[in-house]
Amino acid sequence: MRAAVLREVAEIKADGLSRRYPELPWREDPLSIEDCPHPTAGPGQVVLEVLACGVCYTDIDIIEGRVRCRIPIVPGHQVVGRVVEVGPGVKSDYPGIGETVGIAWVGKTCGRCSFCTAGLENLCAEFMATGCHLNGGYAEFAVAYADFVYPIPKGADYVSVAPLLCAGAVGYRALKLANLKDGSRLGLFGFGASAHIILQVVKKLFPGIEVYVFSRSLEHRELAEKLGADWTGHPSDTPPKKLDRAIDFTPVGEITTRALELLDRGGILVVNVIRKQTPIALDYTNHLWLEKTVRSVANVTRRDVTELLSIASKYGLKTEVQVYGLEEVNKALRDLKLAKVRGSAVLKLK
Ligand SMILES: [Zn+2]
Ligand SMILES: [Zn+2]
Repeated sequence: MRAAVLREVAEIKADGLSRRYPELPWREDPLSIEDCPHPTAGPGQVVLEVLACGVCYTDIDIIEGRVRCRIPIVPGHQVVGRVVEVGPGVKSDYPGIGETVGIAWVGKTCGRCSFCTAGLENLCAEFMATGCHLNGGYAEFAVAYADFVYPIPKGADYVSVAPLLCAGAVGYRALKLANLKDGSRLGLFGFGASAHIILQVVKKLFPGIEVYVFSRSLEHRELAEKLGADWTGHPSDTPPKKLDRAIDFTPVGEITTRALELLDRGGILVVNVIRKQTPIALDYTNHLWLEKTVRSVANVTRRDVTELLSIASKYGLKTEVQVYGLEEVNKALRDLKLAKVRGSAVLKLK
């Protein structure tokens, strides 16, 4: 089978971006497209024929070494596929051969530790991530643990569903951690794959919330307005009112402090990125005083994914996608790094 493999951590070389990590190789094509052995299902596992796989900014973090993974690895953790093999010991008849299912970042957890048993499997010390510790979906076939897949409704447009599995699900977790209340004002910083889904979720679940979107990209701000943002601006712009809640989706440290400056007293900021590429220079008086809270989001639980998929289908959420073939995966990564993707980048394999 064909797969895109990361064999060595490298900085992704993209038009107009200067080199940041001189100690790493600098490559336009950090993933190599290879013929790999067809995977088989071990105990408790299923094999999927991959239909589509979303491209996530975390994949760039993995390739550039900010997130440590097993190497070599097949990245890709927003996978929609059709079950073609069921391994020994899969408990029930779900998922059966021919069923369409999704795989998300949460590839396996221990199920026994205090975090797992408290509904916080995202914090499990044995958390295994798809496309990081387990091979992912940048391939014609992928293996998953049967307890960690999600039914995808028959007839769903699987290319549009793929971004819900991480961009949507992790954004949804951030939204839960932000503890929104109707009538409050929410700021979204950065408007890529995750934020464009979360804006729609907020508008459906909390119609009384005003959403302000901050982005450096004019095109991203236009998309935000189309999707119902109440105000849009550059991160340096001052919105009409202070924010009660904010979610920072950007890899830039300065955006975290900017969001905290714009937060009203008692406000909550959730930082929804796995790694920041520049430091966060927190100043207690300017950024935290008056009971402001800042917190991170780590991974996702199966419950987050299931709830988000159900909200998406109930309200007909629309993901904007830019489609690439498996052979174009490196271009998709470069476009994403350059913030040139409108909505989400998705590899379409079938
Ligand atoms: Zn992701
Ligand atoms: Zn655990």
